[in-house]
Amino acid sequence: MKAYEIVVDRILGLLEAGTVPWQRPWDPAIGLPRNIRGTAYRGINVLVLGCQGYESPLWLTVRQANQLGGHIRRGERGTPVIFWKWAPTPAEGESEQPPRQQAPLVRYYRVWNLLQTDGVEVPSGAATPALEAAEVSAECVVSRMAAPPSIRHDGGARAFYRPSTDSIHLPPRDAFHEADGYLATLFHELVHSTGHATRLARPAVTDGTLFGDHAYSEEELVAEMGAAFLCAHVGITSRTIENAAAYIASWLRVLRDDHRMVLRASQRAQRAVDYILGPVERSAPEDAP
Ligand SMILES: [Zn+2]
Repeated sequence: MKAYEIVVDRILGLLEAGTVPWQRPWDPAIGLPRNIRGTAYRGINVLVLGCQGYESPLWLTVRQANQLGGHIRRGERGTPVIFWKWAPTPAEGESEQPPRQQAPLVRYYRVWNLLQTDGVEVPSGAATPALEAAEVSAECVVSRMAAPPSIRHDGGARAFYRPSTDSIHLPPRDAFHEADGYLATLFHELVHSTGHATRLARPAVTDGTLFGDHAYSEEELVAEMGAAFLCAHVGITSRTIENAAAYIASWLRVLRDDHRMVLRASQRAQRAVDYILGPVERSAPEDAP
């Protein structure tokens, strides 16, 4: 089994059990899943770790547990997380061929939650929440975004993003029963807007297919995951999914056919969220152990 399949399997397993992994990617009261050095996980790893419901956001490897004077409790099972590794390029003169565009390889390793361990001395830096999870209010999400699209409340009963005019159209604010529902909808469309040619230029947004029916497409999964990440960042926990059983069945159908879609969509959603929230300090790239 390929490394990414191990993680995608977890996501499909959650859907099969009736849980939408991106509905509540982490509990804002506990914080973004992070490693024992305090660095937040990213992309699909957030979904896999955050869905497990541990009351500590901290995760570590066997080696790290031992180095910190503790151990994994007997019988506790680890959780796979993936990271990207660039294949070493052949040394100069070794090959006559011009260097090919190298794709990074997906690798995985296992981590355990702090609550699956005994005796671990937690480093002081890890105990405080990661910078990016703190101090983001719902209102400032839009104002943080560099050159945001225009937002108009003239969408009638529908909410949509129109790439040709770079504008988000929403129902009037009072059409939403709860502020959280309004924000979740706004965030979804805001994530679509990051695909505009002047921003991250995602194919489905630049080629115009977005304006048609994009239900259960990769771009829609990007928007769903990105909106969920933003909701969790600002502390919205009660994001409701209408007709959840049909929603889950449809995504399962699509994702079973294309296992890489979950991986691609979670990467793209993470990039979209990074774009919206603006630059934040990151000490470790792509979840290296
Ligand atoms: Zn959408």
